[in-house]
Amino acid sequence: MKPLIRNLTRRDVLCQSAALTTMPLPGFLGDVEPVADRAAFRSGKNESRLFTLGVASGEPLPDSVMIWTRLAPDPLNNGGMPQKPVTLRWEVAVDDKMRDVVQRGKVTAQPEFAHSVHVEVAGLKPHHWYWYRFDVGGKASSVGRTRTAPALGQQLDRFRFAFAACQNYQAGYYTAYRHMAGEELDLVVHLGDYIYETKPKRWSRPRRHNSYEVDTLAEYRNRYALYKLDPDLQAAHAAFPWCVVPDDHEVDNDYANDKEEKHRMTPAAFRVRRAAAYRAYFEHMPFRTSQFPRGSDMQLYRSLPAGDLIDFHFLDTRQYRTDQQCGRRWEQRCEAAMDPRATILGTAQEKWLYARLNWVRAKWTVLAQQVPMMERMREMDGDKFYNVDKWDGYVAARKRLLDVVKNSQKQGLVVLSGDVHAAWAGTLKADFKDPKSRTLGTEFVGTSISSSGDGWGMKKGHRRTLDANPHLEFYNGRRGYARCDVTPSVWRTDYRVLPYVTRPGAPIKTRASFTVARKQPGLMRK
Ligand code: FE
Ligand code: CA
Repeated sequence: MKPLIRNLTRRDVLCQSAALTTMPLPGFLGDVEPVADRAAFRSGKNESRLFTLGVASGEPLPDSVMIWTRLAPDPLNNGGMPQKPVTLRWEVAVDDKMRDVVQRGKVTAQPEFAHSVHVEVAGLKPHHWYWYRFDVGGKASSVGRTRTAPALGQQLDRFRFAFAACQNYQAGYYTAYRHMAGEELDLVVHLGDYIYETKPKRWSRPRRHNSYEVDTLAEYRNRYALYKLDPDLQAAHAAFPWCVVPDDHEVDNDYANDKEEKHRMTPAAFRVRRAAAYRAYFEHMPFRTSQFPRGSDMQLYRSLPAGDLIDFHFLDTRQYRTDQQCGRRWEQRCEAAMDPRATILGTAQEKWLYARLNWVRAKWTVLAQQVPMMERMREMDGDKFYNVDKWDGYVAARKRLLDVVKNSQKQGLVVLSGDVHAAWAGTLKADFKDPKSRTLGTEFVGTSISSSGDGWGMKKGHRRTLDANPHLEFYNGRRGYARCDVTPSVWRTDYRVLPYVTRPGAPIKTRASFTVARKQPGLMRK
């Protein structure tokens, strides 16, 4: 069978790498510029404090995975490395003690990329656990664990993953990640708002941002460093491979394509900022080097297959969208929301996605993306309000997508979303106004890791929204993440929640569990 997704064969990956060697990319410069200038970073800094931001892995394919680290002895002040290339050694083993090393190599950390490295470890076995670490001058990083993807088309009877979003450092501790690190998962999916660009807030507790609203490359880097110093976040990265997509706060709140939040910058000036933001995002995430941004553009939408069981499609609903014409919060719908020229994915991404939806091969199709897709209508004084920064502000675009799903006769569509700092579960309807219309898929909106602080119970407004939208089944306003356990016939999502995040050490519990039968879309509460 023709592979569904490109760039998956080893040859493709190699071709891509070869095409990119003309660019000064980290990770492919292993033997070019040798040797750490050890004297240069001895200047009062302890070498063992080089790996302050931990290690990470991601973008798993059946035969390869990316491993990541960044040398940063002074992480909050531009890293503290000399302006020189530094060579690291890396090794990958099949045991956590790193005794049985199956691969090793060298990679050069370039000052141009804040001494971050992205190493593609290829030639691995599908669906296997591996352990990895880095080393500079005899000083080793901590050991991370990662897992390759199942082989293409492999009959898989189970795949487990967690998805998370929205981790405002100021609003709480990352206790959820400490718990996540102890789960049994094949993958972690992050749906955006990994950092927040905002200034320190006076009310903020328990933590504070380290600078005013970030705008330059150096400021974004320092912001990532602040977040990545968190030991709980590091633990979750070290435990599993991650696939990440950004939302708005990695750049600027509510931005749309080249329009910033307050429309004070020209689109050209905002592109300079977006370029800095995407570059710092790339530098701090375990991306493939082919995902390196080109100026202010970064190819973030992509697919990841998990055997014959799941096709994950990661979407980007910020970079290409038309501007929010009806406002950015809960508004009455204006004409523009219905305008077929409005798009939240952009024309190229829509085409890409529809082609994939039409060629479906895996049992489940997952759209891992940012803003809630289901209609969520609030009625107040007889008027209807929608959150128009979400798919609810792009009604014609949503209908285009759902029409493709309807016509493809696709079963097993699950949409994952973040962004709104609360959990919602519901179904995607052919016509949201008609509860009897066909159910085309299921949506799980995860909550936040920390954003919005400790959270709240069910308020009157939430109850009213649930009542006014029969396709919405569940709401919860606490922090945490969602854990998904997928088999060929049944999907299960557990909402894992914490009672508080403004103090460390909260316990976790499953607040609600839902199952979806693949051949009969709709939610069943467990
Ligand atoms: Fe957020
Ligand atoms: Ca957001």
